[in-house]
Amino acid sequence: MKKEEKKNDSDLMDKIVSLCKRRGFIFPGSEIYGGMANSWDYGPLGVELKNNVKQGWWKKFVHSRTDMVGIDAALIMNPKVWEASGHLKNFTDPLVECKKCHERFRADKISGDKCPACGGELTTAKQFNLMFKTFIGPAEESANVAYFRPETAQAMFVDFKQVAETSRKRIPFGIAQIGKAFRNEITPGNFIFRTREFEQMEIEYFIREKDWEKTFEYWHEEMYKWMGELGLKKEHLHDLEVPEKERAHYSKRTIDIEYDFPFGTDELYGLAYRTDFDLGNHAKSSGQSLEYLDPETQEKFIPHVIEPTFGVDRSVLAVLCESYNEEEAPTSEEGKTEPRVVLKFPKWLAPIKVAILPLSKKEELAKVARPIYEDLVKNFACEYDETQSIGKRYRRQDEIGTPYCVTVDFETLEDKAVTVRDRDTMKQERIKIEELINYLKKKLEE
Ligand SMILES: [Zn+2]
Repeated sequence: MKKEEKKNDSDLMDKIVSLCKRRGFIFPGSEIYGGMANSWDYGPLGVELKNNVKQGWWKKFVHSRTDMVGIDAALIMNPKVWEASGHLKNFTDPLVECKKCHERFRADKISGDKCPACGGELTTAKQFNLMFKTFIGPAEESANVAYFRPETAQAMFVDFKQVAETSRKRIPFGIAQIGKAFRNEITPGNFIFRTREFEQMEIEYFIREKDWEKTFEYWHEEMYKWMGELGLKKEHLHDLEVPEKERAHYSKRTIDIEYDFPFGTDELYGLAYRTDFDLGNHAKSSGQSLEYLDPETQEKFIPHVIEPTFGVDRSVLAVLCESYNEEEAPTSEEGKTEPRVVLKFPKWLAPIKVAILPLSKKEELAKVARPIYEDLVKNFACEYDETQSIGKRYRRQDEIGTPYCVTVDFETLEDKAVTVRDRDTMKQERIKIEELINYLKKKLEE
C-alpha cells in the first residue's frame, strides 16, 4: 500500500483499531461492563510499546543531556496553582447544545449553525472549563474542591526553585516530566487520539529572554530528530504556526506539529514560547521569589521558558499508523504469495524483539528450543510459541512487529544452528546457537 493512500482512510483506521484489540495492544476500557466512553486500556503489547516510547524519550532528553533533570509530581495540586496559571479562567472550550437532540459539540469544531447530528437549532456557545473537578476529603463542599492537572507543565514551574537549587543547574537548563493529565473534553474521539485521560512528556526549558528565538529553533529541530527516531516520515509531518488569536493564553509563539493520521492531519506535538508568564504569575500569587540568581554576574531575573510537549498516546498512535503495512508474502509453495499485515516498527520500539518458534510441538525440539528461549529472554523481550503452523506463527509475529523469528527445526539437532527470519525482508539465515545472542544484539542495534 502506498503511504499517500493512508490519508483520510477510515478503513485503515478500523484495521489498526481492530489489530490493536485482537493482538493485545489496546482494548476498550471496562469492556465487560459495556465499556466507558473513550477510555482505552493498554494490553501486554501496548504497554511495552508505550514504555519503549517513554524510556526512549527519557534517555534522549534527560539521561543523554547535561542540561536536563526530571521530576514526577502529584496529579492533584493546590487549586491556587490553576488560579495563577490562568486555567480556572481560560482553560475552556466553547460548548453548544442542540435544542432538539441535546447532543453537545465544540462550537469551534463544527461548521455552520445547525446540529451536525440532526440539523436542529443550536444554543449560543458558552465557555466550558475542561478541568476535572474533584473533592479532597469526605466533604463535597466548595472549600474542598481540587482539580486533576490538565497538563504536567505547572509542576515544573511550581517546583522550579527547588529543582534549580537542589540540582544546581545553571540557565539554560530544562526540567522534564512524563505523566498523566486530564481534560474533560466535550468531544473526545479517534481512538487514543483525543481521550479525557492521557499521558504527556513535557519539557520546560528555562532561558534568558534574549535567547528565546534561537532556543525555539533549537527545540524545533530536536523534536524533528525525535520523530525521525520514531520512524515518522518527514512528508507526514507538518508545522502549523498557530495564529495569535488561537494561541493559548500564555504563549507568544506556538507551532503545532501535525501528523497525517488516517482520519486526517491533526496535532501530534506542540512547541510553545511561554515567556515568563508562568513563573511570573506563580511568584505574584504565592508571594515567593522565583527569580534566578546568576552565580557569575549576580544578575537576578525571572527565566523565560520554551516548552516542547509530546503526547505519549499520540506518539503511540502515530507509530502504529506509520508502521502499518499490508503486502504480499511468499508462501511455502513455489511462486505463490499471500497477503500479510506487518507492523514495521523501528526495532527499538518493537514490544517483542525475538520470537522463538520450534517447528513442531515435538518434545525433542522443545528440549533444544526452551533453553534458547530462557537464554535470550535475559537479553531481549522474547516470546515462545509452539502452537499452529509455522506460517501462521510468522503472520502473528509480523502483525505484532517482532523484528526476528528464531526457528528451531530437526536439522538443529544435527548442526546446532537455527534459522533467523527478518521481519522486513523475510530473508532467513542459518546461525549457530552459540553465536545467536551476539548476532541478535548486533542486528537489533542496526
Ligand atoms: Zn441535534
